[in-house]
Amino acid sequence: MTNLATFLVDSATTHGVRIAVRHDDSTLTYAQLDDASARVAALLRDRGVLPGDRVALTMPNVPLFPVVYYGVLRAGAVVVPMNPLLKDREVAFTLRDCGARLALVFPLFADEVAKAAAETGTPCLVTEPSAFDELLRAQEPMPRVVDRSDDDPALILYTSGTTGTPKGAALSHRNLATNTATTAETLLQAGPDDVFFGGLPLFHAFGQTCALNTAVAAGATLTLLPRFEPARALEIMARDGVTVFLGVPTMYAALLHAELPEGFDAGRLRLAVSGGASLPVEVLHGFERRFGATVLEGYGLSETSPVAAFNHPDRPRKAGSIGQPVRGVEMKLVAEGGGEVPPGEVGEIAIRGENVMAGYWNRPEATEEAIRDGWFHSGDLARVDEDGFYFIVDRKKDLIIRGGYNVYPREVEEVLYEHPAVAEAAVVGVPDPVLGEEVAAVVTLRPGAEATAEEIRDHVKERVAAYKYPRIVTVAAELPKGPTGKILKREIVVTER
Ligand code: AMP
Repeated sequence: MTNLATFLVDSATTHGVRIAVRHDDSTLTYAQLDDASARVAALLRDRGVLPGDRVALTMPNVPLFPVVYYGVLRAGAVVVPMNPLLKDREVAFTLRDCGARLALVFPLFADEVAKAAAETGTPCLVTEPSAFDELLRAQEPMPRVVDRSDDDPALILYTSGTTGTPKGAALSHRNLATNTATTAETLLQAGPDDVFFGGLPLFHAFGQTCALNTAVAAGATLTLLPRFEPARALEIMARDGVTVFLGVPTMYAALLHAELPEGFDAGRLRLAVSGGASLPVEVLHGFERRFGATVLEGYGLSETSPVAAFNHPDRPRKAGSIGQPVRGVEMKLVAEGGGEVPPGEVGEIAIRGENVMAGYWNRPEATEEAIRDGWFHSGDLARVDEDGFYFIVDRKKDLIIRGGYNVYPREVEEVLYEHPAVAEAAVVGVPDPVLGEEVAAVVTLRPGAEATAEEIRDHVKERVAAYKYPRIVTVAAELPKGPTGKILKREIVVTER
């Protein structure tokens, strides 16, 4: 091997007539996806893109995403996917940082990208559908996938990581191919009859490896939803007979409380996978009851391709746990000053294995800080039990220290989710002149439910140690969310004191 695009070529050989991607009424079979991406590769080559060059990609979840994504890979170039919501300054930063040779952008997002491309002098191609189709038709497909060595970069994913300034996690063909194969074979045990739900953004590690690449490796169908909305998600699950649902916890919470359409039947759903943030245990059980499919939680980061741990389907599952390290991956918990923590104690998750990036693109210092003695330091705090199951207690940065006591927001959030009126909850620390930090909670309520801030505060107060319950509770209309639907704690402003 190992060009990641080989998964597509193999599936096109064995499952050519099967549907690879669907977006409502438009579909691409494996043969069509294979052919279109080979034409994109030829187009890129003719525009001077060489193996190893970086090609930036701004696309929503539409069939063109996989066409262009595999096209860039087939040409031996490196994909740099961008969040379509980035403003021109942010796009310009990314284009400069990765030294993009070319930017490809979907018309809907062309303004910001074109501005940034002009500023940085990056050639920019807007994929206006009919014109782009014509361009592709005029190309002879590139006959062979360009050979890459295992360690050549395939992808650069921009992430704030544990420090805040965006940097590019450079993932190799080996990183991604092994993580994809592990996910397809051992975690999702996926095959050509599966239909994957494609509502996670494909520019992000979770959607890209676990939905797109895994579905392609398995010869399955990926049904795309460009913007997650619970009503649309339910419609697609029933219409296309989704067998594998993938989502972040806020999607699970939304589906749990959404009204089911008349005669709703998601009878083919066999597995639901959660990752990206902690899945509250109440939400996990509620989803399983409502949809009759097992929910398995996993854990990972952009820097780890992303999957590092999972509740494996053939072993007992532990609700509230991220499971155990996956095939080819080792995990341990390290103490603040170095060294492993004693059993049962909280430490930072460190990860080693074939899924761990070689480093951040052009950032030797950040790389050295993150990868020490061959172990990637995640910035996430966890505990491990006697069976080797890991339990995330929180991110290092989200830990609240109130009057010298550690309060892990996640523990308080779990209790908030147990309140019958609460739909979503986030617990954050706010500065306090006496205690250093005070615990604050912001919640949203289920449709039609009512509860006062005092009732919610008292609910927690009765159930946790006195130093942990939120003195400040705000009921909000919504919580700020990132592109994958993760709650953005750093954007939560607590005004009421
Ligand atoms: P990203 O690089 O955007 O994929 O974000 C990675 C971060 O998501 C990790 O460092 C964790 O803080 C968080 N994360 C991922 N999966 C889980 C999970 N199952 N439980 C808690 N946090 C998670």
